[in-house]
Amino acid sequence: MTGNGRSDDAGGSGRDDRFSDVTDAHVHLMPERLMTAIRSALHDEAGWSFPDSAAQADVERVLRAQGVARYVALPYAHKPGIARELNGWLLERAGASEMAIPFATVHADDEVRTVVRDAFEAGARGLKFQCPVQGCAPDDPRLDPAYELAAEYDRPIVFHAGTAPMFEDSPHVGLDRFRAFVDSYPEVRACCAHMGTYEHEGFLELARERESVFLDTCVAMASTAPDLLGFDPASIPDAAFEDLAGRIMYGSDYPNVPYAYEREREHLLSRDLSDEAFDALLRGAAARFLGEASP
Ligand SMILES: [Zn+2]
Repeated sequence: MTGNGRSDDAGGSGRDDRFSDVTDAHVHLMPERLMTAIRSALHDEAGWSFPDSAAQADVERVLRAQGVARYVALPYAHKPGIARELNGWLLERAGASEMAIPFATVHADDEVRTVVRDAFEAGARGLKFQCPVQGCAPDDPRLDPAYELAAEYDRPIVFHAGTAPMFEDSPHVGLDRFRAFVDSYPEVRACCAHMGTYEHEGFLELARERESVFLDTCVAMASTAPDLLGFDPASIPDAAFEDLAGRIMYGSDYPNVPYAYEREREHLLSRDLSDEAFDALLRGAAARFLGEASP
């Protein structure tokens, strides 16, 4: 059967009956001071303000109420010297949570190999790079030690490698830099966040060509994307979610989004996808990305 089995009480804020036991592959968990700094930077640069609390307990309460069973918790280090402490903080928080799947980060000017090995040994399930903010492209040779360890430990990587929402002039993003990484490390599963917007067509094509390439939906597929990004989520056809089932992960970027959580999923749930494609989007692709399911 296909979609549109929506519960009538959805009403914009209620739960959709298909949106349960979901893995949210893109959530930010960071210490309060850092989160406040990130939010004020996003406010200054993009004019965004954030309706929801970023405290872990509040985030998890919202996610659970929405139907999310677990989430990938992402940090990132905007400057050298903070990644180790950030990773330690996040691993500890995830250890006390039944929902959080901890990822780690490193800055290209840190002792990359040591920081990443320690994080993996302590239980980090993958790595996250916010390329434009961290000032490192996916193919930055300073990150080679991190990538070698990702291959050795079989841990995936999430990159903000696309040009949205305000990075079209950044030298650290774009399809070519991401493809160069994929060519060098074909064995490392790598996700380009935000569907690769604004080069989504190229990223979708690359995902079709390369098994190791994943995309996540956050912000780009939200019903608010036309206003927020100048991007129409409907420009990505349903067929992409069918063809690439298992490689496109639902993610929200919560809580650093300037809208309520429901806006993130409502467009996706209005699509007429097969049950298999929805299952892959909401659960299966993340399991595969995390190395829990065979390809
Ligand atoms: Zn993010």
